[in-house]
Amino acid sequence: MTGHHSGEKIVLASNNAGKVREINQLLAGERITVAPQKEYNIPDAIEDGLSFVENAIKKARHASGLSGLPTIADDSGIEVDELNGAPGIYSARFAGPEASDRANMEKLLEHLREVPEERRSAHFQCLMVYMRHAEDPTPIICQGTWDGSILFKPRGENGFGYDPVFYVPAHDCSSAELPPEIKNRLSHRGQALRKLLQALSQ
Ligand code: IMP
Repeated sequence: MTGHHSGEKIVLASNNAGKVREINQLLAGERITVAPQKEYNIPDAIEDGLSFVENAIKKARHASGLSGLPTIADDSGIEVDELNGAPGIYSARFAGPEASDRANMEKLLEHLREVPEERRSAHFQCLMVYMRHAEDPTPIICQGTWDGSILFKPRGENGFGYDPVFYVPAHDCSSAELPPEIKNRLSHRGQALRKLLQALSQ
């Protein structure tokens, strides 16, 4: 592939404020900048894929098609082993179509109410896709996974989504108790985006 030119505009195919904030923090000091799709009046894509990677490609293709620009999309979620990987690709709408982060977390805690600590393992997944244009036949696809477990009650105020109930063993706290720069260093999203930057620079 050709190298990525600095200053080129890239659309971020997400309107999730938490993701947009983290991705901007991760890109601070990098040669590329992204603008969330709402700045181009792009509505949300229909996410009817059955895997993170399918949904990430759908989102990127949708935003590239409507903007005419290269796009980065993030599809992510949390997989809980005791629930056979649920909520997975349905993480954002676990408690219903427009569910709040709090409602989703509460539903998860309710499902795991009787489950002991040793069976509460969980994994954040992030699939990050870069498409040069809507018909790009070789999107760049990068994955990051972050292993932890589900707490019994929410802790901490940082981050978004399931962060208050995601226990990070290496720091003995929840993901919402980590300072943003530490979360970005460890997280599924940080891992995936660093791989993507590496691929773009080649
Ligand atoms: P998506 O926008 O369809 O990819 O949905 C992602 C959902 O997964 C979010 O709404 C969150 O509920 C959850 N999620 C993804 N990444 C994180 C994270 O870093 N922290 C907490 N929750 C996350």
